Amino acid sequence: MPIEAGWWQAARRVESPNHNARPHGEVSALVLHSISLPPGEFGGEHIERLFTNTLDPRAHPYFATIADLRVSAHLLIRRDGECVQFVPFDRRAWHAGRSRWFDGERERCELNDFAVGIELEGDEVSAYRDAQYRSLARVTVALMTHYPALSPERITSHAHIAPLRKTDPGPAFDWAYFRRCLYAERSPSAQRTA
Ligand SMILES: [Zn+2]
Repeated sequence: MPIEAGWWQAARRVESPNHNARPHGEVSALVLHSISLPPGEFGGEHIERLFTNTLDPRAHPYFATIADLRVSAHLLIRRDGECVQFVPFDRRAWHAGRSRWFDGERERCELNDFAVGIELEGDEVSAYRDAQYRSLARVTVALMTHYPALSPERITSHAHIAPLRKTDPGPAFDWAYFRRCLYAERSPSAQRTA
């Protein structure tokens, strides 16, 4: 499935107002996250409501602490593998916060400027679902095709770029398995002969 005007055609579209322009127009990294609302619970519409500024602060005690946040990600991958896109990839979504990354020779801050942010629905300790790895591999290949500056070694995590604040997507995320899914998605014939 291609990306058209910044939207992945395989995703369900739920537009978030939480985005602005990328200062250099660059799309060259991918940051993986995880989220569950309320924490540890899966399903429901709360994540979509958080990213569209419509979360009811009275619906759960935790929501009162986050309902005023203005945050977003480009994409959410639900437990069943469904993809929901909130922000076009050409726009700057608000997922990484204060962050820094060694990009070759130089240290760079503010990864939101040039990264795509993908949230996996999860709680960092429960195993992610196979359907999530497969959807993530599919959209990552679509992104690498559309944005050639984005390569497999430029895939990182929120925990890696904000280590004192964040731990997602956590120890449950199987990087080796994700790399295998990515490789299989890029070269389907390799999968058949493996
Ligand atoms: Zn995160």
